[in-house]
Amino acid sequence: MKVLEKAPAKINLSLDVLGKRDDGYHEVRMVMTSIDLADRVECEDLPEDTISIRTSAPYVPEDERNFAYQAAKCIKETYNIHRGVAISIKKNIPVAAGLAGGSTDAAATIRALNRLWNLEMTYEAMLDIAVQIGSDVAFCIKGGTALATGRGEQIAPLPSLPPCWVILVKPAVSVSTAQIYKELDSKSADHPDVDEMIEAIKREDFLGICQLLGNTLEAVTMKKVADIGKIKQHMKTIGAEGILMSGSGPTVFALTQHESRMQRLINGMKGYCSQVFAVRLCKPFPLLSKYE
Ligand code: ATP
Repeated sequence: MKVLEKAPAKINLSLDVLGKRDDGYHEVRMVMTSIDLADRVECEDLPEDTISIRTSAPYVPEDERNFAYQAAKCIKETYNIHRGVAISIKKNIPVAAGLAGGSTDAAATIRALNRLWNLEMTYEAMLDIAVQIGSDVAFCIKGGTALATGRGEQIAPLPSLPPCWVILVKPAVSVSTAQIYKELDSKSADHPDVDEMIEAIKREDFLGICQLLGNTLEAVTMKKVADIGKIKQHMKTIGAEGILMSGSGPTVFALTQHESRMQRLINGMKGYCSQVFAVRLCKPFPLLSKYE
């Protein structure tokens, strides 16, 4: 048997780093939302008790370093499963781009194996696996829009954003999330107003959301990747309601509710960068999520 799961990327609307914890992780407060730029994760039964992994992109590990492999291994150990699985990942999300590509593949693997092996996992049981793989995996289990706190693994759902286009521009470099956090001095850094962002989302105030976009890590990555500043400036000149770098970067996104602006941004940015996408937002996975 074979099951297929969609694995959507995320963007950070607000990302605040509060400081470093004793366990080495950073304490964060982030508002994230899923977007319709997605990998495809396929899980198929194997006759022998092994995990095999194949991806469509170069430079993505095809062994135990892949987060999808780690998710499968963790489920097998936790539920004492002696069955094999072949995981195949069609990568559409740029790698090491601040879009949680690896984390969403791990989350999709958890959802897929729950179905393939009839595990009847609750949302909480999926979260227990997710936190063992990485901090962003927990958000990706359910997706949609949410506040993530702690090291990013504590998830509180939020209402969906008003409909809009998300235009993503990925400079031709990749950055290491760990390195960006290492170089951050959270005391002297800028801190976005996460609570105001949550309020703007709750009152469906699209322009308010755009004005409140903020990311503590942006200045750190910008120092290393000069293209980020240039892309932001160019997008501003073309026109967008809001512009920000996602996660630890280097992908920059713009939000707009106007199709004509979306078209202008795509055309204008294509001559500037080779990886340009325009996508819609992605709803939370229906079986698991309900905003109360
Ligand atoms: P985040 O936004 O969570 O910080 P990111 O989008 O910046 O993550 P990823 O695309 O997840 O970064 O890639 C980071 C590293 O993770 C890659 O360099 C790669 O070696 C490793 N990796 C492991 N599994 C995967 C996967 N399934 N897809 C992509 N990268 C993976």
